[in-house]
Amino acid sequence: MNRSDATLTLGVDLGSTAIKAVLLADGMTVKACRVALTGHNARQSAEQLVAALLDEAGVTPDQVARTVATGYGRLYYDPADREVSEITCHARGTRLVMPQARTIVDIGGQDSKVISLADTGRVLDFAMNDKCAAGTGRFLEVMSRALDVPIEQFGRLAEASTKDVAISTTCTVFAESEVVGLVARGEALPDIVAAIHRSIAARIAALVRRVGPAAPVVSTGGVAQNPAAIAALATELDQPVEVAPDPQFTGAIGAALVAAADHAEPRP
Ligand code: ADP
Repeated sequence: MNRSDATLTLGVDLGSTAIKAVLLADGMTVKACRVALTGHNARQSAEQLVAALLDEAGVTPDQVARTVATGYGRLYYDPADREVSEITCHARGTRLVMPQARTIVDIGGQDSKVISLADTGRVLDFAMNDKCAAGTGRFLEVMSRALDVPIEQFGRLAEASTKDVAISTTCTVFAESEVVGLVARGEALPDIVAAIHRSIAARIAALVRRVGPAAPVVSTGGVAQNPAAIAALATELDQPVEVAPDPQFTGAIGAALVAAADHAEPRP
């Protein structure tokens, strides 16, 4: 049961690949969180995910003071009191978990964003890639499927790499053929996987350079769970890249924080 004095807010991040939901207590403590694939029906997936989350937390919908939706599909979540951009939500979520961050690199399933923050947490600037799969989680998913390795284990494979092989094309479709060609040529799997991560890191680093990068650089989004992608990005930028705790939930945490702020100070 919810402690009767705790204010509960809900943040729902309807990403193109995954939906994330976070239940926040008193605008500061994550009480429960849950993720599911978006699938073909974002609306239905979000509703099922939130129902499961509340059930798990022992909370009824009427105990949630306010709900904010964010992400690519944010307009599809009807129960939300308000929709807020992913830029705002990633900035707010990162500010809670890593207040020292000055540059956020959010690498999602079908887009990537870089956000530059003032030391107050205010958004100064941002850059976004939502046109090309090459600098997003989609690139890694296509490659992991082509090599028949689950995405959760894909990055770890790169650790055993001993030789630099190159992927010359940046286009996901052509790069997939090139990877198949490298396998046929007998290149070792860890070397190919390392090359794939260098390729995505080069694309993301170019986006990062458009707005900064002021240190500390913090990564959020699902791809931040892939250690090889983050290590390759740090090498490419020649500076450390930290990973936010539970990075895939940062946007949903930010949405729940906005909901808490709205509840404390209702908008006119
Ligand atoms: P979106 O918000 O755009 O739907 P997410 O931020 O949820 O995207 O990130 C989805 C991406 O995260 C996937 O494309 C995949 O590359 C990556 N990903 C998800 N789970 C894992 C994991 N356990 N390990 C490594 N990468 C992961």
